[in-house]
Amino acid sequence: MTDTSIRLHLPVLPASGGAVAVSGGQAHYLANVMRLGGGDSLLVFNGEAGEWRARITEISRKSVILVLEAQTRPPAPEPDAWLCFALLKRQKTDLVAEKATELGVSVIQPVITARTQADHVNLDRLRAIATEAAEQCERLHVPEIRPPLPVLKLMAAWPAARPLFVADERRTSPLLGPATGPTALMTGPEGGFTDQELDAIARTPRVARVSLGRRILRAETAAIAGLALHLAAWP
Ligand code: SAH
Repeated sequence: MTDTSIRLHLPVLPASGGAVAVSGGQAHYLANVMRLGGGDSLLVFNGEAGEWRARITEISRKSVILVLEAQTRPPAPEPDAWLCFALLKRQKTDLVAEKATELGVSVIQPVITARTQADHVNLDRLRAIATEAAEQCERLHVPEIRPPLPVLKLMAAWPAARPLFVADERRTSPLLGPATGPTALMTGPEGGFTDQELDAIARTPRVARVSLGRRILRAETAAIAGLALHLAAWP
């Protein structure tokens, strides 16, 4: 049987087929949660190898051997889009990581600002959430989750080639438009950016302040709605 609803991200896959060993939580998932057996097949993927149909040749509670049988999707580029968002409380941060993955970002960069109400985040949990979202929404890449950075530090090292759109609810900025190349969107915390932060952000090359419409959105809505607006038309 091929169960195409089982789609597993494996960080390392041989690019031209062959066997792969799966252990740890993923072996537990296949053997004990999904109760697959020898001869069953599933889909495995990553950004470099694309997606493959894989058949189980050996399975125990702790280790599974898969043989890659056929490539079902070749590797393909996905949007080169970063989301920089002021860190939120745990559940909202989790929500943003999941939805940003579905919407196609390549990098998730949590940011610490003066009004941010959280200063730490469990990166492993966010990586697990992003991996699961990529598995469920047919992405080939799992976004990279970066450790949190203070906003001024992020601005000081901002890569010159990447435009940054800062969501600013207080001014009459132009509406955020569709991205056509490498890009980044930044959203603030519940209390908004301070004037000092907005000034520092505005002094960074390649930065534009943008509106997400006339309604004031909560921080997590701004991140999700902003990405939808920005990335929906990505080719
Ligand atoms: N200034 C308000 C609300 C902050 S909203 C307050 O003092 O409580 C949280 C973040 O969402 C903002 O920093 C901004 O980045 C983003 N945001 C919300 N609504 C927006 C809009 N209509 N346009 C652009 N950004 C918006």
